[in-house]
Amino acid sequence: MPSIILKAGREKSLLRRHPWIFSGAIQDADGNIASGETVDLLSSDRQFLARAAYSPSSQIRARVWTFEEEPIDKEFFRKRIRIAIQSREVWGLRRDTDSYRLIYAESDNLPGLIVDRYGDVLVLQSLTTGSEAWKETIVDLLLEETGLVTLYERSDADVRELEGLQPQVGLLRGVLPQLPTTIHENNLIFNVNFAAGHKTGFYLDQRRNRLRVRKLAKDKDVLDCFCYTGGFSVNALSGAAQSVLSVDSSSDALGLCRENVSLNQLPIDSHTVLEGDVFHLLRKFRDERRSFDMIILDPPKFAPTAAQAEKAARGYKDINLLAFKLLRPGGLLVTFSCSGGVDAGLFQKIVAGAALDAGVNAQIVEPLSQAEDHPVALHFPEGAYLKGLVCLRT
Ligand code: SAH
Repeated sequence: MPSIILKAGREKSLLRRHPWIFSGAIQDADGNIASGETVDLLSSDRQFLARAAYSPSSQIRARVWTFEEEPIDKEFFRKRIRIAIQSREVWGLRRDTDSYRLIYAESDNLPGLIVDRYGDVLVLQSLTTGSEAWKETIVDLLLEETGLVTLYERSDADVRELEGLQPQVGLLRGVLPQLPTTIHENNLIFNVNFAAGHKTGFYLDQRRNRLRVRKLAKDKDVLDCFCYTGGFSVNALSGAAQSVLSVDSSSDALGLCRENVSLNQLPIDSHTVLEGDVFHLLRKFRDERRSFDMIILDPPKFAPTAAQAEKAARGYKDINLLAFKLLRPGGLLVTFSCSGGVDAGLFQKIVAGAALDAGVNAQIVEPLSQAEDHPVALHFPEGAYLKGLVCLRT
């Protein structure tokens, strides 16, 4: 097996079980290591540290498969996949939810591999050279271990570019069901188009927070900003909100949002969709002196990495400030960031600054995070990307 020798002192992160090796930590590497090939990572005094997948074009030059001297083969992946699947069973999700994340990359010790289950269909994202090299094996194992027959690939995330990989999308096994397909989440129904939707089709990470909104929405006038296909809107209506206004810039998403309200036989008279730019519409609502009892802000990622944090902070501050102004006293702001580059502390500071500049008093009544099927490995805090706060305007 080829090996990579690290610079003196650069073994420290591996000893703490962080799974990435950056190019700058490498002293020496064997020649001709193929993209995705398994390599041994050795300390400067040639001690074995870990076994990893090699990625020649990425700054993250190697991602660890294991810290043991064990073979990386089909049985290795079977073991890891089985552990990931079993760990989801603890949550008893399948009682009222048939769609959830089965494998969450580094958090499940399978760097680069994301697998979501939508009813009886698996949707796979392979994001790195390592998961790509083992894709066929992994696909077979996923079907063997779940007993399912259909698997669709959505490897079209931008991050593949950094790994020198082209996008790949399409059916890998089984028969494509008619799209959109219907899924269940906390006893509600959603139409999901996993072939064309964002990510793998649905924001499964918000499941628990949507349920929270359902519980808090009773009799409220709700504004759901960045609503996508209506995850929060449907939950608010199901929780007997007085009215829900769903805003997004995508007309396709709003079409599905409408459909999802009807599918659940919720009062369509209490629901309005509005296509537009949230930054612009919040200003318009402010000028029109409109107000709401609950405002949800779930914007797309403004800062994938810490380098963009400052610009992202301005974006978050802007929408949170406007939302505080539109919030009636006693109203709730349910606000999120899914930017990897903005940590929970910074996000809270931004929201605090927004309330200050809006001239309102508010308190945090609940912190929110990604759902339990998106766990965070203790040694890989980068896995925690979703931060949320429920703030009460006093
Ligand atoms: N809350 C949703 C997920 C939101 S994803 C859920 O629970 O499923 C982010 C959404 O923001 C996308 O649907 C995207 O179309 C929309 N979006 C991005 N920029 C926008 C903007 N400036 N104004 C309005 N919508 C925007």
